[in-house]
Amino acid sequence: MLSGVQAAFAAGCTSVLSLSTSFAGVSSKDSGILVRFLGSGASGWKSEWAKKNPHIRRQSSILVENKIVFDFTMCGFDHLPENLVPAALFVTHSHGDHFNAPAVVRLGVRKVYTHSSWTSHAKTVLEAAAQEAKAPAPEVIGIDFAAPVEIDGITVTAVPSIHSTSRLVDGQIERTAMYLIEKGASRLLYATDTAGISGDAARMIGIDRHITPRRFEKRTVDNPFIHKPQPLTAFIMEATNGDKDEDFRLFVHASVQTVDRIVKMLKKTGRFTPPPGQKAYITHLGLKYRNWPSEKIEADISPELAAAHDGLEVRLG
Ligand SMILES: [Zn+2]
Ligand SMILES: [Zn+2]
Repeated sequence: MLSGVQAAFAAGCTSVLSLSTSFAGVSSKDSGILVRFLGSGASGWKSEWAKKNPHIRRQSSILVENKIVFDFTMCGFDHLPENLVPAALFVTHSHGDHFNAPAVVRLGVRKVYTHSSWTSHAKTVLEAAAQEAKAPAPEVIGIDFAAPVEIDGITVTAVPSIHSTSRLVDGQIERTAMYLIEKGASRLLYATDTAGISGDAARMIGIDRHITPRRFEKRTVDNPFIHKPQPLTAFIMEATNGDKDEDFRLFVHASVQTVDRIVKMLKKTGRFTPPPGQKAYITHLGLKYRNWPSEKIEADISPELAAAHDGLEVRLG
């Protein structure tokens, strides 16, 4: 039931921005989920850009609890804590601004998870990169949607995103993913790249209005793709299109307005219940906002939202 689960929580790059850590709304330093944004921008990074503008964002990636990385390219090293080797990497999809095989080998991570539709491709390019670097190749593990993986008390579940790479692997098209990250009573959705949240994803997460607690209890078939109704407590979503709602990328990316509408609806219907003061974060910023300081972006967008920036560390309830 809803109330029960809400419980305690109503390289290649150069300049480094100062780190800031926010604990808004989270009572203890061990509560919630610690997230560091290693990058918060869209594709096409060039290291010279950072020399000209320290606010310009690297390719999107996050480090969770100093243990698990989501997406990784060469830019990710700039804000990675020194000598940290993560336990695992989860990749959302194979686009080059999210997955770079030489960077992953250099990271030294031993386990790499991708959606099973393109695991063999990831394995091939990681083995080639490892051979080139004369370094060991990581183990590459294929996962399916709605199949949770547990790593050191953190549960990670892939759900489908609304995006496309058109990559054909062994006759199958790659399925792109976003991730539900759970620790204790905290449930964080890391949603990039995606044009929104599909019905399938909403049902796998437990936030689809059609699946009421009563309907869920009355179900006669155990369906792994329908999660019990359970609100999110933390939310990070891409806003590549900035404030351009009519941009042609609308089939594969989101605008700030898209994120705002989703966040407001989820809050209104009790499906997003962040601790007081904690906002939803926008990341993968492209058009308009990529090189703006977060404070300037936040003065320009809905008060429901906060803008991620590279090096930002937040503990989300
Ligand atoms: Zn991207
Ligand atoms: Zn992409």
